[in-house]
Amino acid sequence: MPQPDHTFVAGVAPNDQLDAGRTAWWFVFRGGEIMIHAERAGGSVIPRLGDLADLALEPVRSSFLGHLGGAQVYAAELRDEAAVPDSLSFRGLRALYGLVDDQIFALAGRASQILEWERNHQYCGRCGTPTEQAPGERAKRCPACGLLSFPRLSPAVIVLVERGDDVLLARHTRTTDGMYALLAGFVEPGESIEEAIHREIREEAGIEVDRLTYFGSQPWPFPHQLMIGFTVQYARGDVRVDGEEIADARWFTARSMPKVPPRLSIARRLIDAYAAKHGVTIDQP
Ligand SMILES: [Zn+2]
Repeated sequence: MPQPDHTFVAGVAPNDQLDAGRTAWWFVFRGGEIMIHAERAGGSVIPRLGDLADLALEPVRSSFLGHLGGAQVYAAELRDEAAVPDSLSFRGLRALYGLVDDQIFALAGRASQILEWERNHQYCGRCGTPTEQAPGERAKRCPACGLLSFPRLSPAVIVLVERGDDVLLARHTRTTDGMYALLAGFVEPGESIEEAIHREIREEAGIEVDRLTYFGSQPWPFPHQLMIGFTVQYARGDVRVDGEEIADARWFTARSMPKVPPRLSIARRLIDAYAAKHGVTIDQP
């Protein structure tokens, strides 16, 4: 079976002439959950429609995102009380992972982030005037004072600390299922990514690290983080936790892994890469 063409080209306005008569991808949210086909019958999990009006749905807001394989892509938000046909249902964005390919999952996250931004920037943050869509770019403009607002991204570092064959994992105080994760935190204004890594690990685990190696990054639409992944090497100090954010942090080996984050996260990609280096496959979802 040929692979579907999933080349995504971001845009801020559709080309109605080129797109005439083609169905679009609709990433539709209601109360923070995404609308999908209730039963997958060989078709797309994400609805393909000419327009939401085809389902008699009227969105609170909608936004053109670009083209996927030549078809238009839209994000839309429904009122919390909006009823949809029985053939459609809603589920949390995290639960979409694995039901769709990685690019569709990423687009759902993009849609969620754009809608979040649209919802939170209806008024100018400086003077309170209702904002307008800026022509030709993904921005909102204040017609009174000219302030431009762009979609918000919050960079955060996520770090796998190695000490010889061991890896440092931490259990957050808000975790209830015993899961151990990686140390992570937001980059602060005026701080480099490297400085953020040293500060976060010092604050959360009380140790010093060196040999920072970039691993990769991942958009994390909960609501708008950009996770920047690194592996680093332990340098000195004894692990001690603050007890407020981190309840426990300790060294594990690839063969003695606790419950770790699910596969959709870059945390898991970092942990899987570490385990693979030691010839171990982690048998967890
Ligand atoms: Zn203004």
